[in-house]
Amino acid sequence: MRRAIFPGSFDPITLGHYDIIKRGSKLFDEVVVAIGINSDKKYMFSLEERQHFIEEAFKNDPNVKVVTYKGLTVDFCKEINADFILRGLRNPADFEFEKAIAHTNRKLSRIETVFLLTASRTSYISSSIVRDVIRNHGDYTVLVPDSVRI
Ligand code: ADP
Repeated sequence: MRRAIFPGSFDPITLGHYDIIKRGSKLFDEVVVAIGINSDKKYMFSLEERQHFIEEAFKNDPNVKVVTYKGLTVDFCKEINADFILRGLRNPADFEFEKAIAHTNRKLSRIETVFLLTASRTSYISSSIVRDVIRNHGDYTVLVPDSVRI
């Protein structure tokens, strides 16, 4: 089975993430959306809320699963038998950042990182921009799946 994990914080999931997961679910037998738990980070949404938003968004996609994990992404891949890491690329800054991580993960394991270029209509969206819009009472609903409601 070709299983990929899509790791991230998803605080909250955006239409950019949604697009990558949907497209990834057509390339792989299973896409496991893996919410990383980092106790040093402050989040706007609790782990349960973030997980619920994603599960709701993909409730009709049986090959999309949502889990949480701690520790190294490559270790978690081995644990759940995933041979691929799926990542989205928005711009050159994403590329430089992702390149170093992908090389490191390749050094630590045999796991391949597969990059999908963002859809142009969602390329500007980031979770941090969404959080900023929410904090300032803007209409965040145009940036996130319908499942993200506060
Ligand atoms: P992180 O905690 O690693 O910053 P995120 O939750 O922000 O994780 O993002 C997880 C993945 O989703 C990354 O590969 C990131 O590049 C990708 N991503 C985020 N926003 C978009 C977008 N608008 N279009 C495509 N990919 C995106």
